[in-house]
Amino acid sequence: MSASKIDLNNLTDDQKTQAIKEFRALLGSESPKHDDNTLLRFLIARQLNAQKAHEMLNGYFEWREKEGIDRLPVPGVNGNPVMQNVRGFRSVPDANWDMSVEGMPEDFKKFYSCMGGGCFHKVDKEGTPVFIERTGYHDVKGLAVKCSPAVMLDWHIRNNEFVFNVLMPECTQRAGKTIEKHTVIFDCTGLGIWQFDMTGLNLLRAVSDLDSRVYPERLGKLFIVNTPGIFARAWNIIKRWLDKRILEKIFICGSDYKDVLLQHVDAENLPDFLGGKCTCSHMPGGCVPSPYLESRNAKGAGDNFQFSTSLGSSSHEYEITVPKEEVEGASQAKLFYKFRTTKRAVHFEIRHRKEDCADERVIVPSTSRDSHKEIVQSDMNVEPGTYVFSWQKPAGGFSLFNSLALDYSIDLTVEDGEEFVTEHVTVHEADEKPGSDSDDVVETAEGVGRLSVS
Ligand SMILES: [Zn+2]
Repeated sequence: MSASKIDLNNLTDDQKTQAIKEFRALLGSESPKHDDNTLLRFLIARQLNAQKAHEMLNGYFEWREKEGIDRLPVPGVNGNPVMQNVRGFRSVPDANWDMSVEGMPEDFKKFYSCMGGGCFHKVDKEGTPVFIERTGYHDVKGLAVKCSPAVMLDWHIRNNEFVFNVLMPECTQRAGKTIEKHTVIFDCTGLGIWQFDMTGLNLLRAVSDLDSRVYPERLGKLFIVNTPGIFARAWNIIKRWLDKRILEKIFICGSDYKDVLLQHVDAENLPDFLGGKCTCSHMPGGCVPSPYLESRNAKGAGDNFQFSTSLGSSSHEYEITVPKEEVEGASQAKLFYKFRTTKRAVHFEIRHRKEDCADERVIVPSTSRDSHKEIVQSDMNVEPGTYVFSWQKPAGGFSLFNSLALDYSIDLTVEDGEEFVTEHVTVHEADEKPGSDSDDVVETAEGVGRLSVS
């Protein structure tokens, strides 16, 4: 059968039957070992070319044998620990990924501590399992330091085996029709430019390549929501790796994402932080437990920021210089910033001074920001010169002994044509006024990033 003029995402029953028949003829005595749905997934991945689909299928079984996939303990089966949070299925009770459980590989514990948080959370309107990830909270620097790509792939494979062998059969039974794909939601809340770099994107690519090689046609729909403006840049790189048919399954949503999600997932099955009504209040961490949020709540600081300091009696300032030679000829130069505080709001201001000029011009006038409630983040186009970011404690109610923790990240990105560049320039500590306590700046991250595909 020729794949030309055939819409592989919307095959007719006749097209499917014909393709499977050709594939089965080629398989001969092997044929009864495989069900139609499996054959069809491999056929579609190879544009209905039975010969190529056969090669791919053989490669898949060789890979399983070589890597011992069938000997891996399947999470959630026969007492094996679940390696992802689970909500709303019958075959596995609601569970959190428990690090203390016997048999949990040490590498996964390190891995978990860097994760923004994820959960197999209920089903969509089609009865398809939904995986939700707090992509914007991943500590990518930590992942790069603490985890090898091999560890990440190992964990990814175990999760895949779990969803395909445990959750999907249950969903098939409940829906009364074959469910063999999953719906994925990436929540980019908190995502900053400092989380993107090629190390992170290459990790993502390794996972994506594995999936297209051995787990074809498993993605139903992928929603990427709360995407910041900078996402477009990373997306330009990622989409080049992806097949056109995969791209048709991806929805990148701006502020109207809630309506989009509710078209596909019933409100009672969608977490409230994504516009639904579910809170999973019976489980620690709610719908999608997040190591990042836990750590932030526990310490008042996570490690997803470049700098952590505390505002004693005074202000804190950070200067970043945008060199003329960096931005001349660039198509775009932007500064991205985000910050948060504990306990109280802060006054925040941005000023600019030109090279060889002492006068400062106010770019963002000092206003009170509720950075204790929500991370403040934004970006702005920049010109050469020095930008001064200034935070000031609100007046009243605060003493020397009652300091305010401040975490922040600031990045300059210069875009010249196709290239995606993250630049760190210079850090100058602001002069502290006498009496300020512990204003030490600790560098906690320097702008590495990761997205993950499940
Ligand atoms: Zn929930």
